[in-house]
Amino acid sequence: MSDQWQVHKFGGSSLADAACFKHVCSILQNQSQSQNLNQPKKKAIVVSAMKGITDILLQITQFAKQSNLDYLKELKDLQQRLTDTIQALLPNNLQDQTQLISKFDNNFKDIRDILRATYLMHEYSQEILNHISGYGEFWSAQILHAYLTAMNLKANWLDTRKVLFVKQGETGPVIQWEKTKSTFNDWLTSNEIENCDYLVITGFIASTTNNIPTTLGRNGSDLTASIFGSLLKSESVTIWTDVDGILSADPKKVSQAVVLKNISYDEAMELAYFGAKVLHPGTIQPAQKDGIPITIRNTNNLNCPGTRIWFDNGEHQKTNSANNSINNHRLIKGLSIVDNVALVNVEGSNLIGVPSISERVFRCLCTVDVSVIMISQASSEHSICLAVKEHQSHLAKEALTEAFSSELTHGHMQSIEVIPSCSVLAAVGSRMREKVGIAARFFESIGNAGVNIKAISQGSSERNISVVIDEKDGSKALQAAHAAFYLSKQTISIGIIGSGLIGSTLIDQIKDESKHLLEELNIDLRVRGITTSKKMLLDEKLDLKHWKSDFESNSDTADLATFINFIHTDSLPHSVVVDCTASYDIAQHYVDWIKQGIHIITPNKRAGSGNMNFYKELRSYARQRNRHFLYEATVGAGLPIITTLRDLIHTGDKIEKIEGIFSGTLSFLFNTFNGDNKFSDVLKIAIDRGYTEPDPRDDLSGTDVVRKVMILAREMGVSIEEEDIQVDHLVPQHMQNNGTIEDFLNNLDQLDQIMADKMNKANVAGNVLRFVGCIDSIDKSNQGTVALKEYPKNHPFAHTQGSDNIIAFTTSRYNQTPLIIQGPGAGPAVTAGGVFADLLRLSTFLGAAT
Ligand code: ADP
Ligand code: ASP
Ligand code: MG
Repeated sequence: MSDQWQVHKFGGSSLADAACFKHVCSILQNQSQSQNLNQPKKKAIVVSAMKGITDILLQITQFAKQSNLDYLKELKDLQQRLTDTIQALLPNNLQDQTQLISKFDNNFKDIRDILRATYLMHEYSQEILNHISGYGEFWSAQILHAYLTAMNLKANWLDTRKVLFVKQGETGPVIQWEKTKSTFNDWLTSNEIENCDYLVITGFIASTTNNIPTTLGRNGSDLTASIFGSLLKSESVTIWTDVDGILSADPKKVSQAVVLKNISYDEAMELAYFGAKVLHPGTIQPAQKDGIPITIRNTNNLNCPGTRIWFDNGEHQKTNSANNSINNHRLIKGLSIVDNVALVNVEGSNLIGVPSISERVFRCLCTVDVSVIMISQASSEHSICLAVKEHQSHLAKEALTEAFSSELTHGHMQSIEVIPSCSVLAAVGSRMREKVGIAARFFESIGNAGVNIKAISQGSSERNISVVIDEKDGSKALQAAHAAFYLSKQTISIGIIGSGLIGSTLIDQIKDESKHLLEELNIDLRVRGITTSKKMLLDEKLDLKHWKSDFESNSDTADLATFINFIHTDSLPHSVVVDCTASYDIAQHYVDWIKQGIHIITPNKRAGSGNMNFYKELRSYARQRNRHFLYEATVGAGLPIITTLRDLIHTGDKIEKIEGIFSGTLSFLFNTFNGDNKFSDVLKIAIDRGYTEPDPRDDLSGTDVVRKVMILAREMGVSIEEEDIQVDHLVPQHMQNNGTIEDFLNNLDQLDQIMADKMNKANVAGNVLRFVGCIDSIDKSNQGTVALKEYPKNHPFAHTQGSDNIIAFTTSRYNQTPLIIQGPGAGPAVTAGGVFADLLRLSTFLGAAT
């Protein structure tokens, strides 16, 4: 063929309405402009039915069979849709418009006649179904042809039923190449095709060798494109659709799926065979035999170059393209899933040694036209497991039962069992054989998602591994396997509860560091949700640069269950809830979240200092489920108190005593109050600077310190409840809960007097006053205390500043001089920093480099 052709195929998704046809025309014209002018290319344009039309045609045939008169209404609507499209595309060309509309009217009359018979007979033949379902492509081609002509482009169109011949075989249509070639060449000659630049071709439809209309099966237009690519010796086949190319998984099922730049013919075929709807599995063969590259592109995203399907490296002499290297480092290229599958299990312990069982099984299924999607066989032939299409499973069982009736009767075969409602999940990549452990990773990811694998098969080409799972687990398993191969192992879905000072500071810290963490340490932190008690913002690609304004304008009404569901996605390897509230109610959910598989990080002290049984349950579930409950920032904000304590304990040190100034507020009060000033004045400064709780009595009561002491005591393994802690309350009993905050602040004289007396006493002894918490594991009577104590001026506690925390660990190793940790123990930046450190600690536990 002297002309150089390109084939472009537009799927139904690219041909929804008149605007789509116009867009298709502009794509074709742009392609022409970008070509080398010395080498004009002709375009063969294979079209599908307009979006949804094939489904409607199949549905109305079904309606007619069921004597449901809705078929007439559906037909009317369909006719109107086509008329509207034609009128919108040919507004200035009344003659062509009317001609096409009346031609289609005749088609609709024919369809009504056929369906009337179906309606009366409650039956239709396969031929009728093939005939009716093919009208969509027939109409699309004529509409596009009319529009291209109206745009003054030299166009022609071809009804492929005139030239494309197939025989329907067990595994789909078998192209009759010789007859097709010669008929098509005759057609080209008689239609003087050299004078035309655009040849519009109907996808999907063909004829049998007896000239009866047939189809290439659902999605068959892709195959038409490849067939005509071969017939026209086309330089390329471009399949235009509604996604950016072939992705690592169906983007409708895995939001994290990424576009594959290059993929081999074999890989594409395997993915398509295992359910990647983006391509009909038959598409590959005609293009592959002639070495024609296939490119999948998005009609709605012309900037994206799409996926190029060609030979694999080294597989073909012609391989020279630099493109081939781009995606090749991936051992698993893609994952796809076939639903509506049943597993047929042929089992028999006495079959061992019986020759050719598998051969008989397959022959039997072949005779009843049951196609086997996947086989898994124990080498002993003790059992053979077959995945078949669900609707054929009973046929398969019946046929096998008959074929093996003698074995079943004599007990050589125990059972032929059908397990319905399964899916086959396949991982595809031609280079997987190059590395050990790929299969293990695949199975592990599915297992970790809590999905049970019913059968396993690895193709002898080692180009795919497939597993059979429960259909209901399909999405979960697909997403988990995708995450295992496509994301950093340390990809964490993060949900933040509370957008107050700590929450918002943390979000900003993550925003500033995430790029560096990803690049340097392969830690991929993805904040996907933020919630308060009123509002929540959930977004797969939440942009932390403007999260505040998004939270203000785009958030929904808060719903904790929805929030948790979204955060705990199967599409990312790990999920963590960061509770930045001080809420008791939120902490009550931790056990439940841990049970679901979510990690928890928090500066909220409620869980660590609440009911002991709840705490034990929480820790025990976390251990059982291998989930982490991290709360470093509950004590000493960003200071490494709990980590240090754990390190000491886990390395065998014995903790004798922990004593410390744990409250930033009380630290400030006693660092500033010296006897020369009034305690109430110092308290007022603390209130003004925002150091205290809204009701300062909450600080002065020591409750906050009590909670921290409990957290540390429990970390040491002590079972302790709040009432076990002896607390020295700074506020006299009658001022504690009586009256408002104002009443309290107006009556501070009494407190001043008490504090002045204590300070005088301390001064006389050469001491300072400090409000401390203490856990003493030697002196059990002193196991947990919170009190105002005197310390000599040379004691480390006497040298604190501002709102410093200071904690002294006396242990069997550190018993001469205690191990001391000191530094600012309050404030949003250090507290959020402590929470962030927990997030990084979690990443390390999950395998991140340090
Ligand atoms: P068209 O109408 O253009 O033929 P289809 O609906 O037949 O389009 O195929 C495109 C669809 O295939 C996409 O919208 C996508 O949901 C689905 N799909 C399934 N698996 C994949 C995959 N691995 N990559 C891309 N798309 C996929
Ligand atoms: N229109 C047919 C279908 O919907 C063929 C195709 O679109 O490829 O299956
Ligand atoms: Mg399709």
